[in-house]
Amino acid sequence: MSNTSPQLSRRAQGLGTENAFVVLAEVNDLARKGKDIISFCIGQPDFPAPLHVQEAGIRAIREGKHGYTPSAGIDPLREAVAKYMAGMRGGLPIRPEDVVVGAGAKPFIAYAILSVTDYGVGDEVIYPNPGFPIYESQITACGAKPVPIHLKEARNFSFDPAELERLITPKTKLLILNYPHNPTGGLLTRAELEQIAAILAKHPQVWVYADEIYSRLTFDGTFFSIAQVPGMYERTIISDGASKTWAMTGWRIGFISNPVLSPVFTRWVTNTDSCASQISQWAAVEAINGPQDAAEMMKKSFFERRDLIVGLLNKVPGVACKTPGGAFYVWPNVTEACRMIGASDSEDFRKRLLNEAGVAVLADIHFGSRVPGEGQHVRFSYAASNEMIEKGVARMAEFIRKNTAEAA
Ligand code: PMP
Repeated sequence: MSNTSPQLSRRAQGLGTENAFVVLAEVNDLARKGKDIISFCIGQPDFPAPLHVQEAGIRAIREGKHGYTPSAGIDPLREAVAKYMAGMRGGLPIRPEDVVVGAGAKPFIAYAILSVTDYGVGDEVIYPNPGFPIYESQITACGAKPVPIHLKEARNFSFDPAELERLITPKTKLLILNYPHNPTGGLLTRAELEQIAAILAKHPQVWVYADEIYSRLTFDGTFFSIAQVPGMYERTIISDGASKTWAMTGWRIGFISNPVLSPVFTRWVTNTDSCASQISQWAAVEAINGPQDAAEMMKKSFFERRDLIVGLLNKVPGVACKTPGGAFYVWPNVTEACRMIGASDSEDFRKRLLNEAGVAVLADIHFGSRVPGEGQHVRFSYAASNEMIEKGVARMAEFIRKNTAEAA
């Protein structure tokens, strides 16, 4: 383009993305060419939304519930969410008016950053690395300064609270936490959350965004939110949603709660989507208030598959995989496997695994810069059938064996 033609903003030119979608395009391209691909790329349950939830959506359509709703969501949903979120979190005093419903939990990441940082003045946001890539891309797009905090394999993919203490400055406005965690499946323990809260007590200017979208998929112990630690409730934005718990990713229903910021979030929704789909909102009321058998069945199934995939991966030469405490991701260390087959790094490994063995995973670089000293990792989303898990890991083992022999 010549410089007299309309230009893109620096913001748009620098906008990050979720590379899961980029890899998915590669996978679809190979599949179209007739290649048999087993995919562990996409972070969504491999189940349909529960039938009674589907029926509630259909009923909403038939009953003419298709119009705009208040930006914060319909009252029955805000009431259901308030009760549900509080019930999951030790009876926090969440009121319906503290809750805002959105088109997924994702938009609230940007709304939170936009609500507590100013553009281009050096406000800092601390976020987990590796982590959900939208944190970093939105921090940058919103004109704040991204400050990654490193997750360590030796700590089961949590961070050292002493490092948090070092990273906080008077410019720090927001700390993003995510537990259970994408991409590692790691948790933050109650003791760790209490340590984090003790540090934040010395820095009252810092808000917390607690991304708890995988809260119902906690396998080890009961779920515990940082908002439950004394002194943390008012400064914590709790984020959750329907996508992962009830297999409703495409319905686009997320919700947040904060007693101070809810009117601000409501105003952001008015400025963007106006409201979440009314049809999906009624379906979400049913998902929350109706029978929980489907959610429990899915959780049980993910729990069993976690043990299956971890067991299988740990038998693959050059691969070491921790047992994650939640979500549906594993984050095996493939440093040794890369060395054995002569792959330059995890991304080279990922590409070769896809093209030569037809197994699609994501690499660590899709979740932020590689953490120094932590080696090479890939992410499997194990929301796939037992058969696919067995076949996929067997293909990976064979791929490593064959290429190790060739490299030698
Ligand atoms: N946070 C994390 C950590 C996620 O992994 C995802 C989905 N991949 C989201 C937020 C967004 O979920 P949704 O917008 O579907 O509610």
